[in-house]
Amino acid sequence: MQNEFVCPTLCRGGRGLMVEQVALEDVAARFGTPVYVYSRAALTAAFEAYRHALAGHRALVCCAVKANSNLGVLSVFARLGAGFDIVSVGELARVLAAGGRADHVVFSGVGKSREEMRQALRAGIRCFNVESASELARLNEVAGEEGRKAPVALRVNPNVDPKTHPYISTGLKNNKFGVAFGDAPALYRLAAQQPNLRVCGMACHIGSQMLDAAPVAESARMLLGLVDVLSKEGIRLEHIDLGGGLGIRYQDEHVPAVVQWLEPLLEVFKGRTEELVFEPGRSLTGNAGLLLTRVEYLKLGEEKNFAVVDAAMNDLIRPSLYDGWHQTVEVAASGEPSRAYDVVGPICESGDFLARARSLAVKEGDLLAVLSAGAYGMSMSSNYNSRPRVAEVLVDGKTAHLVRERETVESLYALERVLPL
Ligand SMILES: *Cc1c(COP(=O)(O)O)cnc(C)c1O
Repeated sequence: MQNEFVCPTLCRGGRGLMVEQVALEDVAARFGTPVYVYSRAALTAAFEAYRHALAGHRALVCCAVKANSNLGVLSVFARLGAGFDIVSVGELARVLAAGGRADHVVFSGVGKSREEMRQALRAGIRCFNVESASELARLNEVAGEEGRKAPVALRVNPNVDPKTHPYISTGLKNNKFGVAFGDAPALYRLAAQQPNLRVCGMACHIGSQMLDAAPVAESARMLLGLVDVLSKEGIRLEHIDLGGGLGIRYQDEHVPAVVQWLEPLLEVFKGRTEELVFEPGRSLTGNAGLLLTRVEYLKLGEEKNFAVVDAAMNDLIRPSLYDGWHQTVEVAASGEPSRAYDVVGPICESGDFLARARSLAVKEGDLLAVLSAGAYGMSMSSNYNSRPRVAEVLVDGKTAHLVRERETVESLYALERVLPL
């Protein structure tokens, strides 16, 4: 039976919505609202779907830390033997603190500082995904200073259209990521001549929330063509990193299962010996998390009804930023009539909404769950309007673990100083 909800471990019980065996009402009573709630079983199932689909291939699945960087969440993946895709040494520190292995870490991003390179080299990460000629030169220098050889892959831009939202498409010519496909051979030759670099792979990441495997399979084909050209010149690459990007169901999107999504791609890799690396973010954590919020006020109007809740755009910015749509549901039956509501937060911006034009049966004080919020939710949150960041809870069977305390107001300005005069 297809679950009524996008999250596989969410269900309706006698006491309203439950994540695994924990009632959301109890989570709210114990930890307050707003609060992010994740499911260990859902995180595990999402990771295992990759492992299962890749059985029989040499492969490393590196969770994209930027999608959800909570230590509790990362520790679930670390225990499953995952690798991690980082974009800063802050994320590297999180991975290590969560029990992740440095030699399973790939480092992406266009702006790595010298200090970041140094720290990543000392930690012994698996690979730097280099995005420009200048970065290659800098990495060679820093590795020389450290007396180490830096493992590198070039992030190549296959210029394939992932057919997704323009803010989250990254593999086209006109954006800041990666090196142009045509420039890659010369850059590989240059890299191979540097004394402090060890060329080990090739990477790409073309977009996010992709629902169609064809653009990734096409990118893989192009990358392998390049790999073969380089191999004839004696530059042998050990792994191909195809990035992340598999979408999730937010609304009624038809999302292929991981095994289906990977099928055309694995077809391209038939008979190849390179290790496969993936960097999924959203597809691992997105539907394993929700944002639990309480209705503060109902404002019924002639044109529109508003449900003013205690969560806001600073907690979950996807609706405001990307027009992200999140299924928003009542935690318990209220007996109220259904009305169309915009679900909005207390922030002083008209763009502060979590959901618009939703049919909800709620009264003031009721709980709402904003689903599919496990990726790019908390990790993109801010303190705008001096709002403390919310708590995070990881449910494991019957137990709800607090994996991040709610911030205090004092902590928000603890680093600030009043002028002495
Ligand atoms: C954001 C990002 C990912 C993860 O993307 P998802 O769409 O969340 O799977 C992977 N690799 C790189 C380089 C990224 O920037």
